[in-house]
Amino acid sequence: MTVNDTMKKIAAFHGHICPGLAYGYRAAEAALKHLGDRAVDEELVAVVENDSCAVDAVQVLTGCTFGKGNLIFRDYGKQVYTFFHRASGKAVRISVDYRREEPPEERALWDRFQAGDRTGTLVEQIKALKQRKVQAILSAPEAELLAVRPVDAAPPSKARIYPSARCDTCGEKAMAPRLKEKNGQRICIPCAQKT
Ligand SMILES: [Zn+2]
Ligand SMILES: [Zn+2]
Repeated sequence: MTVNDTMKKIAAFHGHICPGLAYGYRAAEAALKHLGDRAVDEELVAVVENDSCAVDAVQVLTGCTFGKGNLIFRDYGKQVYTFFHRASGKAVRISVDYRREEPPEERALWDRFQAGDRTGTLVEQIKALKQRKVQAILSAPEAELLAVRPVDAAPPSKARIYPSARCDTCGEKAMAPRLKEKNGQRICIPCAQKT
């Protein structure tokens, strides 16, 4: 598949094409290059340090998904992705670090946009800038965009399936280990937070 076809597939999942998605594409592509095929099951595990647009590209490309439990979110606000390959024991840490300097006139446009300016011409200019940025990210040499290094660490433990049990307050089922003991009752987290 060409980059464009792949980006279309990712955009179909995510909803739009944006620079974040392009960063995620490059991080995922580098991970697969270093570790091998995408995960049909749980062969690969991704630990992502942000919950931005990029993570949707990581999910589509690597098969590490939130639902399968092989996508682990750490809320650090960093463009860092660590991938583990269970079978080989290999792991790679990818930090997105795009070193392209924005020309001052571009910076000025972004600043106006971020300050809330939604003038028609500015909106068009920003759209064009974003498209250019996506293309630049997709075509940049890996070394200009990503810091990739192997890591020597064990992968996070596999996703586990737990029995469910009913909350004594609301009656809804929850994963048993998530229920809290309170006054001899077992209650779910939202109910525990209400009382
Ligand atoms: Zn996006
Ligand atoms: Zn409850």
